[in-house]
Formats: sequence, structure tokens, C-alpha cells
Amino acid sequence: MIGCTRIELSGNPFVDTGLGVIASLTGLSDINDLALSHLYKVHGNGDQLTRWNSRLKSFTQIFGTNNPLYQYSYGFKKGKGPSEVNIAVYKSTLEGLLSAIPKLGTGERCWACGSPSSFDFAQICRKAVEASNLKAPKNKVVGRDWFPLAGSLGSDAQSLPAASRPPHICPRCLLAVHYLPLGLILLNGRLAVFQSTSQKFWYELICDIVNVYKGRVDSGDYETLGAKEGGRAFVERLLALFERLRREAHPDIPEALYVWRFTNSGASPDCAVEEIPDPALRFLSKAAGEGLRHDIMSLMASEGKGPQYSLYQCILDGRDYPKLYPEGKRKGASPKLYAIYQTCIRDHSAKALHAAHKLARTVSSEISEKELKRMQRREAFREMSVRNQFRAIMARMTIEGQFTLDEYLDLFPLKEGRGITVEWDGWNIVRFYLHHANEDFTAIETEQQDGKEPCHLLLYCAGQIYRMAQLRIGEAWNNKESKSKKLNIRCRKRAKDSAVFLFTVDQTVLAQFSIPTTILQGNNILEAYKRIISAKDSSVKGSKATDFKIKDLKVGMRKVNLKARVLEIPEPRMVYTAWGTDAHVSNALIADETGKVRMSLWNEQINMVSEGDSIKVENAKVARFKGELQLRIGRNGSLSTME
Ligand SMILES: [Zn+2]
Repeated sequence: MIGCTRIELSGNPFVDTGLGVIASLTGLSDINDLALSHLYKVHGNGDQLTRWNSRLKSFTQIFGTNNPLYQYSYGFKKGKGPSEVNIAVYKSTLEGLLSAIPKLGTGERCWACGSPSSFDFAQICRKAVEASNLKAPKNKVVGRDWFPLAGSLGSDAQSLPAASRPPHICPRCLLAVHYLPLGLILLNGRLAVFQSTSQKFWYELICDIVNVYKGRVDSGDYETLGAKEGGRAFVERLLALFERLRREAHPDIPEALYVWRFTNSGASPDCAVEEIPDPALRFLSKAAGEGLRHDIMSLMASEGKGPQYSLYQCILDGRDYPKLYPEGKRKGASPKLYAIYQTCIRDHSAKALHAAHKLARTVSSEISEKELKRMQRREAFREMSVRNQFRAIMARMTIEGQFTLDEYLDLFPLKEGRGITVEWDGWNIVRFYLHHANEDFTAIETEQQDGKEPCHLLLYCAGQIYRMAQLRIGEAWNNKESKSKKLNIRCRKRAKDSAVFLFTVDQTVLAQFSIPTTILQGNNILEAYKRIISAKDSSVKGSKATDFKIKDLKVGMRKVNLKARVLEIPEPRMVYTAWGTDAHVSNALIADETGKVRMSLWNEQINMVSEGDSIKVENAKVARFKGELQLRIGRNGSLSTME
């Protein structure tokens, strides 16, 4: 039976979208089940399609006004719409197409689907026009009034090779594209249809679009989807689709979705194919799965007119999306949404985000509220002084074992092909977390391999050299030069505000850079940095320290008050500190009724307490040392004995 003949997809996005609409109107869950009988059933006598197409704006956007349904010579009137003649000619042409479908089999191949057909389009048109007692046009060919981009030149429409002559298109494909007005959207001023590596996903997208059109038409709204909404409406649509597919436990996330954006009207019909790449789709799918659809929509609601900084364009280009960041009264993205964006779209590791959060938390607790506000500004890190202030704390954390070179390189990876220049992104990530420093880090699952490749050997070396060099830059500053077997540091220029240093190893120049005088006015860089930061500490407001029990301590806690008994004070060790001084340290063991913990005692602190003493620790912090928790008193904390 002819009706059982399956209708295969053609590979032409216009035809296939039309077929998708037909399948969707039939209620098919799998488009591969589409058969001719469905087409007959949906089309019926053509009344419904004609009614839709005489109202839907998308119809004229696709087919222009030369189509019989809109031709003035058949009685079409602006404001009133198609006349009975318009409708009759259009409907009987569609009928002619429908009845020609079973006659396929021999003849020239259809340019859209490849099926051979000796179908005569002109004859069908002539019959339809003459049936209304009108004079039929001579040699009617398939033009843009019947098939998108037909006869157009110089376009991306690969579907229509050598498009300079009228295409030969089979009646099935011609009929299918007249369902297109219910299956496409306007995207940044152009009509868009889709193709995808996942047929299921593609079909579900069409079903969603068809459903919206049906709902709209029922309420008398004939506007094209996406008109005046830009990429925003499309992103919303994709999010809603992903949400639904996730709800239905549908695993099929396409690797890519292609958007055919075309214009079929005016003097220059044109088509461009855009790819919505895999990371963008993963981001949308993941965000939808985490219930963040409304968060994203509220971010997009504040988008300006320019499509350049829209979420749609940013995820397409893999760029950072400005609205993620808090600004003024806008709160920006939630840490969860931010993390999903950065890992999917920007390819940052979860480790890098964690490192940024850790830094932000420490820095925000050590600077004044005013300083914090300054650092949170959009352009803050463009200022060298702000970056330096931040780096100083980063350096101190490194020395205290709270921040590693690996973490640094996760956050500030090397810029490819740019020597030891690092990516700027790290500063933006830090800035985001400066707004969320008081919240716990939001961990997210990532599919990506965590952490980048082992970092560049050069940087490891630089790290090593830096640890040594920091002690000797001061010497070079004071004496013009600091020589050693390995590394020479020469002060090449001393100005009022800064000095330029040249680093060489065996006469090979390693680096040359300037260091501000303010930093050099000390025994070494870090000492000076520390002083600058200390001076700012006096203005720290922040929260009050809290009483804790040992069992509740966690790495990263600050402002910890604790009462405990000293169990053990091991023999102090001599250590050479990064400040270039000697120090004694003992890793004491203290306990309360809930547990035990190590606590570092430095220099005179060691003699302040004895084993068996009850002690009071105030304003301490919790770090990890050699795999164990360690309580640290730090320069803001205090230690005293209790009776
Ligand atoms: Zn065809």
C-alpha cells in the first residue's frame, strides 16, 4: 500500500524541518516512523495548513508575497489577508503536489532529496490557476515563492548546487516545506532551521517549536518565534528542551547543533550555517539539569541590544559571559552556574575554581571592606597595584603552605606561544569569588580531566629560582649586584619609584623586570609586601572570632577560638624561613574533650606553655600540614595559659 511508504529524511534542512513538523503534528514520537499515510492524514483537504499559512508571519518571511496565497492579482488585500481566490489557488496547488507524490519513480533526481521524479510543476500550477478561471502563468518554475532559496546564487545553501537555474524539486519535498512556517524561529534577524548530530534531539526541538506555534495560533498570535527576542529566546527554548529531556531521562545530548540562518526575501536571499558546538550544548544541558534555567533567564533579561555580548553569542564563541559577574545591583551568576559555565565553556578545571575561591576567601578576610569593594570592581585587576596587593597575599599563602605552584598554574595557565605570560582569565575568576568569599565552595561534577597537563618545566625552574631570588633582590638593590654560582641579579637602573633588575645564569639572560621601590624597602620583597598588608590589616573589620571544639575544625577556617590542654611539645626544630631568618618551631599536640589537633608554636610561643597546661587560643586559623590538620596562631592570633 502506498500509504505505508516510509518517508525518509532528505538531508535538506528545509525539507526535513517540514517533515519534522508533519511528524510532530501527527504525534509521532520517532520521526523514522513517518509514512505517507501520516502526510495524508495531517494534510487532509489542506484547509488547516492554508489557514495557518494565510496568517503566520513566518510564511511570508519564507516565501515572500509572490506565492499565490499572497498575490494581489488574485485579490489579496493588506489588512484583510488572502481572498477566496488566493486560498483556492494555493490549496489546489498543494492538492496537486499531494496527488503527484505516489507517481515518483523515474526522471530527474530531486535536488533536495535525490528521489527521481518526472514531475511537472508548471502543469500542476496551471491546473490550479485555471480551476479558478484565471489565466495561468507561462512556464512556471520552482522559485522562492515555493521553495526557500530556490534559484538564488552565492549562498551557503549546499542543498541547492548550481542554484543559478530553477531547481527540480519533487512534489513531496515541495509540500513538506510548506509546513516550515510552524517549525522555524527568527534568530538575530534571520530565519533559522536546524540540523543535528542527534536526530532525536533535533526532532524534539522541532516538536517544541511546533507546540509553541500551535499554542500561539490558538490564541490569535501569528508572530514568528524569536522575533525581537534575539538569541535569548532560542537559548530559553534549548534550556526548556534540555530540562524536559533530562526529566524524561533522555541521555541523548547532541555533539553539535547546526543552525541554518537564512533570508529568502528581498534582493539577496542568503544562508549561513552556524554551529552550536559541543561545549555550549553541554553547558545548557548541565545547567538545565541542575535546575538553573530560571537563573540563566534572569541573567539574560539584563542583556543589552548588541548580540555580541549575549549569552547565545558567548557560548557560540566560547567567550566569557559578562553577565556572570556581579555589577552594581545585579548579583551575577550563582557560584554553581558560574562553575558550570567556566568548566564547560571556558575549559577551566574545577581545581582552578577551587584555588580562586581559596585565594578570594583568604584575601577578603585580610583586607578592609573598602579594599574588598575596590577589588570586586570590573576593572579592578587592570590596576597593577591591585594585582600586586593580591599577589602579596598569594605569595604569603604559598610560604605558609596554603597555596601551591600547581594551584597557581591551574588558575593562571600559560598563554600558548607567549613565553611565560599567563592567561588573564584567572583574575576574572578570582574577582567572581571575591563576591562569594563567605560562602563555601560549590563543587560541581566535571567530565573533564581535572587539572591541566603538568606545567611547563620553565615555570618550575622559575619557581625554584624565585624562592632563591627573593632573598637576593634586596641585596642587588642595595649593592647593584648579587652574585652566585647559579644566578646573577644585577640592578640595572634605579629610579625614584622603581628599579630594574636583570637576571642571568651563566651569562644567559633569564629575565628582566622592574620592581616598585615600595616593595624593595625591606630586606626582601616578601617582607615589604607583608608590611604593606599589615598596615592595611589595622582597618580589617570582618566578623568576630568564634568558639570551637576540636572535632569541628576544618581546613581553611579562620578566627577560631579554642580552649584546650597541651599534651605534648616536641623538641623544636630550626627552620630557615622564607623571610630569610631563622626560627624555631614545634608542632605541639593539644586536646579538648572532643579530640586532638596539632598546633604550631613559633619561637617564644614555645616557652610560653608547658605540657599539661590549659591554654586559650584566640583568632587562630586551621591549615593542613603533612596531611594533618594544624592550628595556626598567626600574627592576628593570640595564645595564653589559663589557671
Ligand atoms: Zn524531493
